[in-house]
Amino acid sequence: MQRNSGQASIRFQLFRLVLAVSAIALAFSVIGGALLEWKLQYQQIRQSLATTARAAGMAASAAIAFHDKKAAGEALHILAAQKEIEVAAVYPLEGYRLASYGDDADLPDTIGSLSEHLPSFALWSPSTTLFIPILLDGATIGHIYLRASLHDYHRIYLEQAFLAISTNLLGLILAIGFGLRFIRHIVKPINDLAHTARQVRESKDFSLRATPPEAGAPNNEITELLDSFNAMLTEIELREQMLTNYQSSLERRVLERTEDLHSANRDLLVAKESAEAATQAKSRFLAAASHDLRQPIQAINLFNEALNRTALSNEQKSISNFLGQSIRNLGELFDALLDISKLDAGANIPRPEMISVHTLFSGIDSEFSALASAKSLRFKLHFPFNGMTLVTDGKLLQRLLRNLVGNAIKYTTQGGVMVAIRRRGDEALIQVIDTGIGIAPQHVKTIFEEYFQVGNPERDKSKGLGLGLAITKRLASLLNTKIVCRSDLGKGSVFEFRLPLAHT
Ligand code: ADP
Repeated sequence: MQRNSGQASIRFQLFRLVLAVSAIALAFSVIGGALLEWKLQYQQIRQSLATTARAAGMAASAAIAFHDKKAAGEALHILAAQKEIEVAAVYPLEGYRLASYGDDADLPDTIGSLSEHLPSFALWSPSTTLFIPILLDGATIGHIYLRASLHDYHRIYLEQAFLAISTNLLGLILAIGFGLRFIRHIVKPINDLAHTARQVRESKDFSLRATPPEAGAPNNEITELLDSFNAMLTEIELREQMLTNYQSSLERRVLERTEDLHSANRDLLVAKESAEAATQAKSRFLAAASHDLRQPIQAINLFNEALNRTALSNEQKSISNFLGQSIRNLGELFDALLDISKLDAGANIPRPEMISVHTLFSGIDSEFSALASAKSLRFKLHFPFNGMTLVTDGKLLQRLLRNLVGNAIKYTTQGGVMVAIRRRGDEALIQVIDTGIGIAPQHVKTIFEEYFQVGNPERDKSKGLGLGLAITKRLASLLNTKIVCRSDLGKGSVFEFRLPLAHT
């Protein structure tokens, strides 16, 4: 926002102030002086006229005493010395006019009607009148009346007034000149300051400075203002410089950090890829090894069975039985390892199809109901009466359910196991619920890790391998779902997951 008019207005206001102060001072001095002068001169004239009148009165006193008109008239002639005296007359105590001087046409004959001719104050009256007593030996013997023209007095007074006003006007002009010079001295630095402030604001250039006061300029508030403003700009410039430095160092650091992060990410990616490659290679190797190792195990098993059929002592039979058990455990272990390796190597590609829940549950029932009843457990299946169809890989789902149901029966000693499926919107919620030993809260998450067995850290192979849930987790991930476990220690567990339902 521009404020040029504002700056001009400061100058204008100061000028007006100087002018007003000078004019008022001048007016008062002229008017006061003029009035005083007028009064003084007026008094002076009247005093001089009074002196002249007294002298004439004295000259006429003898004539008055003897009522000598002629002598009185001659005595009044001394008034001719003052040509401004227009008319004069003497009146003895008896009150009649004894003699007169000048144009006495309008003079009254008796003293009684003289009162209207007596002096009264008028500022600009053309004449002045006097009426004073004539004394002889201290006693009043009559009065002298005198009227003088003020024309000359007025002329002289006007001449003097003109001179005085001219002189004062000259003084006023000089005062205005000085005032303007003074204003320029005050306003110029303020204008400069405002100009610099505007430039700084518009250009954001803090290296600008207001013009410093001229050398030898008086040290006043304006100088102080300029100095302070410039000092403030220096401070701002310094801070801005610091801020810029800080910002650029910050930017540099951010760039360095970003570069570090990028390079760390790249390293991590390389590490992840090589780890994945190694895992795949390991899994492929394990899959191949497990497969190859299973054949000699089967051969050993066959040989052991053949040996068992020969005539053996009781001790030899018992050894052969233990050997058979160990071979079965080893076989199971290889099966599990092969499963995990295949899953990790990505050998199992899920093939989604329409799976009838009825068929699925029938399979589960025929596989596990006998096992459950052998342990005197109730085995219950819960699914909708009118049927339900899932879209998933049937074989993988069967393996997953088999693991969960197998565990549920394995870890339940009383009560029962229930496999349930329920509709939840577009999905089916599948649950394996048991009233078994349950799992402590701190173990609920770890049971899905390889070789983890609650309360079996030494991995007693007779109590399972600790790989079942690890395989189940991988199967669930292949089926694009996640198994959630809720358990109450000593009361039972629920393992559940969701699968998509076919649109019917
Ligand atoms: P395991 O071969 O030992 O059963 P899993 O991986 O199948 O191995 O299970 C890991 C551990 O989780 C088991 O050792 C067991 O302690 C616990 N577990 C699994 N299922 C259940 C269940 N239904 N009830 C109680 N504990 C269970």
